[in-house]
Amino acid sequence: GYHKVLEENRKLYNQVQDLKGNIRVYCRVRPLTGGQPNHHGSVSNVNEGSISLIIPSKNGKEGKKTFSFNRVFGPSATQGEVFSDTQPLIRSVLDGYNVCIFAYGQTGSGKTHTMTGPNNLTEETVGVNYRALRDLFLLSEQRRDTIHYNISVQMLEIYNEQVRDLLMANDIRNSSTNGINVPDANLVPVTSTSDVLNLMNLGHKNRTVSYTAMNDRSSRSHSCLTVHVQGRDLTSGNSLRGCMHLVDLAGSERIDKSEVTGDQLKEAQHINKSLSALGDVIASLSQKQSHVPYRNSKLTQLLQDSLGGQAKTLMFVHISPEPEALGETISTLKFAERVSTVELGAAKVNKDGSDVKELKEQIASLKAALARKK
Ligand code: ADP
Ligand code: MG
Repeated sequence: GYHKVLEENRKLYNQVQDLKGNIRVYCRVRPLTGGQPNHHGSVSNVNEGSISLIIPSKNGKEGKKTFSFNRVFGPSATQGEVFSDTQPLIRSVLDGYNVCIFAYGQTGSGKTHTMTGPNNLTEETVGVNYRALRDLFLLSEQRRDTIHYNISVQMLEIYNEQVRDLLMANDIRNSSTNGINVPDANLVPVTSTSDVLNLMNLGHKNRTVSYTAMNDRSSRSHSCLTVHVQGRDLTSGNSLRGCMHLVDLAGSERIDKSEVTGDQLKEAQHINKSLSALGDVIASLSQKQSHVPYRNSKLTQLLQDSLGGQAKTLMFVHISPEPEALGETISTLKFAERVSTVELGAAKVNKDGSDVKELKEQIASLKAALARKK
């Protein structure tokens, strides 16, 4: 009956997933801030699967650079639209898969907006975290007659390579992060979305309260909401486990090392180290390399069992469209391209095409200059 349909569904679903690959990269461009009428951004074109940047060049002309991803969301995309392409992953957690969803980007690019939502949360504006948990409860309820689920959550913060439990407000000794899980961390059973909201609020408070002295530490630490799912098939008695990490990463902006010292320098180095470790792990997974360098940071150790193998990974890459952000935007998109499994088909041709065009123009102007000299 229903179980068989579920099984069929799952097979089909897995086939689709396998075809698509287990690593996906979505790009999201937030709206321009300020919104002055004559204010132009650095993004010229957003399609379903690609994004083009306007690159000013020294001769006053504008170049164009195109990047391709599994999906690109423009400034007008709603929280609901962004989540709808994430939904299949939620189902697979209940099927016993491990899932990681990351928000990557420079500070101010919209990571927290995507994962949590804006300060004023409404039904429409809530982010991926809340929607994911709401779906988990809905789906588990739908399966009530066949599978019994237990759901629990954990909230951790990684700052300067130290893991901290946001639901207990104390540090977890480094020795306990064995790369598989954090046994000392509080794992809180939840049965409804309001339970989860309460815990998210508690975690948020713990995250900010103890660090009021340092301004906005949240942008310099990684925060990770982890959902553990345990299911028991009511007919066969078999059990399954799935887990989902929802990660709001530290800001990816490069800090000018000549301008910072002491604590700031240390922070920058730790962020740099962990984000490149994450990039290395995902890139080696997407290239199907046999050695995956999980051990190079606390972040990748913590997520090891949910990256690679049968696990599914989704990276939301965030872009600020302001021209001042262009340098960071380019390095963000290059990072994203490196971890992406998207074949650079048509978009690559485009890119080459515009490079060739630029070179041809340069040749033409040099020829003209030569001709004038003669
Ligand atoms: P980050 O977490 O990457 O530092 P935030 O999520 O805090 O960035 O976003 C910075 C500001 O931009 C916030 O005021 C946020 O509400 C706003 N913002 C970000 N993304 C969007 C979006 N897609 N639509 C509307 N406002 C956004
Ligand atoms: Mg943030």
